[in-house]
Amino acid sequence: QAPIVIIGAGQAGGRLALHLREEGYRGTICLIGDEPHLPYERPPLSKQVLLGESTPTQLSMTTVVQLAEYSIDWRVSTPVTKVDPSNHLLTLENGESLSYQALVFATGGVPRKLSLPGCEAVPILYLRNQADAAALKTALHPSKRVGIIGGGFIGLEIASSAKQLGCDVVVFEAANQLASRVLPAEISNRLFELHQQNDVTIKLQAGIEQLSHHEDKTSVLLKTGERFVFDVLVAGIGIIPNQTLAEAAGLKVGNGILVDAYLQTSHPDIYAIGDVAAIPMNGGHQRIETWRNAEHQARYLAKHLVSPQSEFEDLMWFWSDQFDEGLQVVGETSPTLKATVRQQNEVATFVIYQDEVGCIRGAAGMGKDGCIAKDIKLIERLIAMKKVVSMETLADPSTNLKSLLK
Ligand code: FAD
Repeated sequence: QAPIVIIGAGQAGGRLALHLREEGYRGTICLIGDEPHLPYERPPLSKQVLLGESTPTQLSMTTVVQLAEYSIDWRVSTPVTKVDPSNHLLTLENGESLSYQALVFATGGVPRKLSLPGCEAVPILYLRNQADAAALKTALHPSKRVGIIGGGFIGLEIASSAKQLGCDVVVFEAANQLASRVLPAEISNRLFELHQQNDVTIKLQAGIEQLSHHEDKTSVLLKTGERFVFDVLVAGIGIIPNQTLAEAAGLKVGNGILVDAYLQTSHPDIYAIGDVAAIPMNGGHQRIETWRNAEHQARYLAKHLVSPQSEFEDLMWFWSDQFDEGLQVVGETSPTLKATVRQQNEVATFVIYQDEVGCIRGAAGMGKDGCIAKDIKLIERLIAMKKVVSMETLADPSTNLKSLLK
């Protein structure tokens, strides 16, 4: 029997290969990566790796020995260059052809590149993989002036790490709020204050007129006429899903490879998971770029390929760590839901979302030293219970969330 072939040996692909074996799949599993590393987790790249608290090899989710024990045919630095669904065949960059019985795209994404006047002549760093992290770490010396374009999670985590390494940091964000796509104003404001308290300069509503580079310095000219000069310029403005291969193979794509509720693409034997997969959501399709989504989709698909499962369902969850505060978001945080702010002294801020009948649907929380993790877990349980609670009860910091589980 032809193998199950996984394109992309990152977090979702690596996890799927391991889970397939753990679920009892006995056929051949072929895991094809284009990076020269074992499958690894990316979240520490912007945090512990930049801070020097973790080495890239500590990010691996498996070992060569485990892959051999699991009989996983793992290929490194071997991009897949063509997929031919009608013949169940794919071609590798080295010219080799492989047949498959099921194929999984776990190809993730690449950083979206800046397109600003002058940017072709400017060295700009991005962060997605171990090579990017190594280059950035080398550049972040104490007292270097670092400009970061993009006030989303990657940009802000890099800002936090760079500042802790002793750099002078300025973040440019086009919107009037940090991470505005996913965070409510109260949490964005807390994030803004946290960076200010740590001497990171944040320029909101920053329209960039021109970038230029002269004698090892990069200058950023804002539309207001303000000019900043940096030793290092980094951009964190989102990712573009790696879907060209799928598109060329005739699979339906939009912003990501379109899948159904079983993570199956428009072709019956081809699936997509992780950052590249656009799953059915809110009447359309949406990609979820989180660690947990990659883990859960990999686990689901391993089970589904071994024995058919009911539809994939998951609750969105992600975290970010910056300076001495942690941030977590769970469930839905749509502005169409009712939002209640729960302020627990100075220690933590939560925004809890409910539907029109008072059912808890999601929350965002931010606070010191991981103190929010416990409450976000409780809120996750309340969401699963479809618990109806009054806004007053939720807003009252003396309400013990655990007591609501009864
Ligand atoms: P990836 O892990 O990117 O793996 C895709 C792999 O496919 C890559 O190795 C790629 O090179 C390979 N590939 C692509 N095309 C081909 C091809 N043609 N042939 C072979 N291989 C190919 N999430 C959180 O929830 N919390 C966090 O704090 C957080 N921090 C993050 C920090 C950083 C710096 C980054 C980059 C991401 C962070 N994330 C975080 C997001 C999380 O890491 C991603 O959601 C997760 O890695 C997605 O896994 P994936 O397998 O879909 O993609």
